[in-house]
Amino acid sequence: MIVCGEKLERGEKKAFSMPIKGGMPLLGMAVCGEKEGKTLLITAGVHGCEYVGIQAMRRLTEQIQPKGLCGQVIILPLVNRSGFLAGAKQLVPEDGKNLNRVFPGKEDGTLSERIAWAIEAQLYPLADFLLDLHGADINEQIVPLAFFPTAAGEEVCSLSRAAASSLSLTMRVCSTSKNGLYSWAAQRGIPGLLVERGGLGRWSEEEVNQCLENVYELMGFLQMLPEQPTKSEQREIVRAVYEQAKADGFWYPAIKEGQIVQKGQLLGRLESVDSDEVWEYRAEFDGVVMYYTLSLGVHREDPLVAYGSERAE
Ligand SMILES: [Zn+2]
Repeated sequence: MIVCGEKLERGEKKAFSMPIKGGMPLLGMAVCGEKEGKTLLITAGVHGCEYVGIQAMRRLTEQIQPKGLCGQVIILPLVNRSGFLAGAKQLVPEDGKNLNRVFPGKEDGTLSERIAWAIEAQLYPLADFLLDLHGADINEQIVPLAFFPTAAGEEVCSLSRAAASSLSLTMRVCSTSKNGLYSWAAQRGIPGLLVERGGLGRWSEEEVNQCLENVYELMGFLQMLPEQPTKSEQREIVRAVYEQAKADGFWYPAIKEGQIVQKGQLLGRLESVDSDEVWEYRAEFDGVVMYYTLSLGVHREDPLVAYGSERAE
């Protein structure tokens, strides 16, 4: 395997540096297992304040060894370096863009677009499966869950869904997104998942260990390590609503992550900063809250609450 110019033989583990045009290179670790198998690409820190995945990949970078591994693992633990260092919510500070909305990137675009372009050009071609680690942002909380693609090739979707089912998570969520790191990869024929864990700008040893457990479970599913039994009952969310702020305002949520809600139930109230207008957000159907925003102040179009159901109708 050759990763960004670093040649690895069977049984080798090497750090690599991925050049970004006009920016700092991204540092990663590549491991070539003792035996043949699939190549798993793992990315974290696309959003710089979603710490659990970032810390878990620092840990995995130390832990993982070629011995006993079938196949290859490529880890990119901190995709949005400047956002991480600045403590910037969602965005790459240099261009103010959400890196998970700019795929496919551009070779001569803004920094976010150039990072996206480099990942697609240099790492996608190596990957048989892609895992992108996220969490709720500094003002959000979430139920640990996996998003899997449903708007890509049939084989990609079914393999991704089966992979999600193999993880110790209580929810897997159908996604039709196409412009993110893993969702664009799905468009290019690479199955993958976006796994979310943690929030509020925090991380704990427990969450890092649970994240690592999911990674090892995925490697088991991909036959790279011995298979592990999943430890949780999982529901599939096939229908979801992602409510956004209708205006700049004060946000008063009335729910928590994981809460069961009934049709018509109040999810939260938004009061305009600039007028007397008030909006009530109510559940359109019976479901469960996946994540929600806790900050009092929200911009127009900021996410407020996401909930979903196992039933299509
Ligand atoms: Zn994220």
